[in-house]
Formats: sequence, C-alpha cells, structure tokens
Amino acid sequence: MRWQIEDAPAQRRFRDEFRSWLADALPAGWVDAVAAGDDGTLEKLRAASGFNPFAWQGTIGRSPYAAPLWPKAYGGMSGEVWMQQVIRSELQRHRLPTVSINLLGVGLAGPTLIDHGTEEQKERYLRKILSAEEIWCQLFSEPGSGSDLASLSTRAVRDGDEWVVNGQKVWTTIAQFATFGMLLARTDPEAAKHEGLTYFIVEMKAPGVEVRPLKQLTGSSEFNEVFFSDVRIPDRNRVGAVGDGWRCARTTLMNERVALAGVSLDPVSFMGGVRRDPWTNYVESIPHRSDPVVRQRLAQFYIESQVKEITAFRANSARLRGDQPGPEGAVNKVFNAEYNQRRSSFAVDANGLGAVAWMPGDSGPEARAQTFLRARANTIEGGTSEVLRNQMAERILGLPRDVEVDKGVPWSEVRHN
Ligand SMILES: Cc1cc2nc3c(=O)[nH]c(=O)nc-3n(C[C@H](O)[C@H](O)[C@H](O)COP(=O)(O)OP(=O)(O)OC[C@H]3O[C@@H](n4cnc5c(N)ncnc54)[C@H](O)[C@@H]3O)c2cc1C
Repeated sequence: MRWQIEDAPAQRRFRDEFRSWLADALPAGWVDAVAAGDDGTLEKLRAASGFNPFAWQGTIGRSPYAAPLWPKAYGGMSGEVWMQQVIRSELQRHRLPTVSINLLGVGLAGPTLIDHGTEEQKERYLRKILSAEEIWCQLFSEPGSGSDLASLSTRAVRDGDEWVVNGQKVWTTIAQFATFGMLLARTDPEAAKHEGLTYFIVEMKAPGVEVRPLKQLTGSSEFNEVFFSDVRIPDRNRVGAVGDGWRCARTTLMNERVALAGVSLDPVSFMGGVRRDPWTNYVESIPHRSDPVVRQRLAQFYIESQVKEITAFRANSARLRGDQPGPEGAVNKVFNAEYNQRRSSFAVDANGLGAVAWMPGDSGPEARAQTFLRARANTIEGGTSEVLRNQMAERILGLPRDVEVDKGVPWSEVRHN
C-alpha cells in the first residue's frame, strides 16, 4: 500500500469544499465520473469539452484555489501549505493539470512581487499571473554568468524616468511566448558584484527586445537567447530599490527551487488527462517485471519516490512558520533531479531496442525517449546539482564557505568570461 497522510478534519472539510467547487467549474458529470472510476465517460467529457490548459488556468486562476498561499488581497487564500497539497492531489485525481501553464509566473514572479513589489505592481500583475492571461519568463542567466549569476553583465543605465538596457540573456525558458520577463541587470559596475544589481519587469514586446529560440536535443525549442538593444524600461517597473536586485533575485531563486522540486515537469503535469497515477503508469511502461533485477530496481524507485514526497512534505511543513523557502529547497531539488534521471534512464534500458526505435504514431516510446532526453536538463536548470551541494554544505552542514576571490572587489575590476 502507498504511503499516505490521512486528512485531519480541517483538511477533509477543505477537500470537500474544493470538490464542490470542481463540480461547479467542470462540465456536468466530470466529478461523478471520477468518483465512480468511470474512465470511459471521463474521456468522452474531456474530448467533448475540448479541454484546454489555458482556458482551465483562466477558470482556476480566477478562483482562490490557484495559489492558496498568496494573500487574499491578490487572488489567494492567505492559506497554509497543506491546502496546496490537498488541491494538487484533487487536481491529479480529477485528471487536471497539477502545474500552472504559467509556472514561472506563479512559482517565481508572483512570490517575488508579493515580497518586493510596490502596491501598484501587485495590483497590476498578480491576478493576471494566476489566470495566465500574462505569461512570465526569467531573464537571469547570461552566456558568461550562470552559476555565478551575480557576475552578470547586462547593463541598465538611468535616463530620467526610464532605464536603458543593453546586453544578452540565454536559456530563457518560454521567452517566445512571454508577455513579461523578470530581468536582473547591472546598474552600478563600480559596486561589488552582488551590490550593483537591480531587478526590473520588462515587456517582452518592447522595442529592442529580440528573442531567438534555441533548438534542444529533444527537438523542441523550450528556451531562447534574448538580446536587449537600447530597451527602455519605465522606472515604475523597477522591483525593489536600485542596487537591491540581488536580494529580490534570491527570493526568485529560492522559490524556483521549491517550484521545480515539488512538481514533475512533464506534459501530463501541464495538460492533465492521464488516466492513472504516475507511479502506476511508470511501472506499466517497464517490461520484464517478473525479472528479479527489474523488480529490485522498481522497488528502489518506489522507496525513493516515497522518501521524496515525505521530505518535500517536511520542508513544506517547516514553511508553515511563514518563512521564505530556505536551503531545504536545494535538498529536494537535487534529489528530484537525480531521481528523475535515474528513473528515465532505467525506462530506456529496460525497453532495450524498443526505447530507440518505434513505429510512427506510437506515442508511448516517443514520450519515453522525450522524458529521458529532457531529464538531462534537470540537474542544470534552476541551479546545478554541484552548486546546490555547495549551498547545502555551507548553509545546512555549516562547512567552510567556497573561496570568493572577487569578494568586495568592484565588478568593473573583476575578470569576466
Ligand atoms: C532547461 C533549462 C532551462 C533554463 N531556464 C532558465 C530560465 O528560464 N531563465 C534563466 O535565467 N536561466 C535558465 N536556465 C539556466 C540555468 O539556471 C543555468 O544553466 C545554471 O544556473 C548553470 O549555469 P551555466 O549553464 O552557465 O553553467 P556554469 O555555471 O558555467 O557551470 C558549468 C559547470 O560548472 C559547475 N560549477 C560552476 N560553479 C561551480 C562551483 N562553484 N562549484 C562546483 N561546480 C561548479 C556547474 O555545476 C556545471 O557543471 C535554464 C537551464 C536549463 C538547462
């Protein structure tokens, strides 16, 4: 039997409330078909309603259930972490997306604006993040600055009530579809690297912003290069004080680890529609299950999946104190990324030739290959496993800090890539 946390009475009540909201929000018969385990009817209802994740995000995004932890004033519930878990489990049960199509908006931009934005910015942006009317991207990494993000070179120079931005970003996920980006830029090259940065909201369609998609190993173009040539940003789109960009960026990065650690980033999470729980789907994709070696590996993955869930639950419970996510996000992110790679590699190994060649239209093997290739990025995106291990060593285990040769040195005097 799978490990499960029983609902306390308050959780049971909340689950019932959410189910009754779902019954109103979904096409008639959907919730009853789930309760009856009637997959055939559910499939028909889904097809007949032309289920679309953007439209769904609009529906749930206008309710308080899209972000229970956000303040009530901005579309949330001012709620508790367990509410998010109850909602996610019900979404999965009802074969609905468990991750917002606007993941970077809900997971990264929203929490940063809530903490550091002006009242005007909160009013202007937060609700449209939840409803996915405005999609967000994260403009942090550059060709010469990834792990050492604070060394970045994109410049923003003040000109009256505006800032003029020049430089290049890379790895910018979904920039080609985004309305706004969270931009970290250097405003004072004479300050030490962490101190000369400022955080901005940039309109992705502003004159001078050029987005060039990059083709990945998987064949898709998930991320992009983004070039800024004399892009003008009004000062009202600055988040936090001038020179305080690193503090705001840390909020984004800490939330990114939690956002990436707590969910699995596969198409089903964004689209919904899967007919069984993900673990059963995985097991059924593995042949030779009576082979003792295969069984051993599956048992090991199952144990790891349970450890992962319990660890995430503990970390989330710690956040009930109202703290910002801390270094525990790094533990979960490293574990989730490496677990995902081990699991997808094993699925490929176990399927032998069937993992590398298939008949056109055979979607199972194609999805398996896609998952295997995409998982390579898991230990890089959102902070590499090596760098996160450094953070755990320093902040959790209290080991000595990495040597910082550029500490306190003006950025303009530091050697750059
Ligand atoms: C799929 C994907 C999506 C992404 N999306 C975005 C996005 O939307 N927005 C965004 O801004 N960025 C994004 N990134 C960028 C990501 O944050 C960076 O790739 C990551 O921070 C690593 O930076 P880098 O690629 O420059 O590698 P580098 O920093 O150059 O690192 C190269 C290698 O050196 C190791 N290394 C570096 N420093 C140390 C150290 N101090 N100790 C030990 N080892 C070290 C690293 O672990 C790595 O193995 C994305 C990346 C991927 C793969």
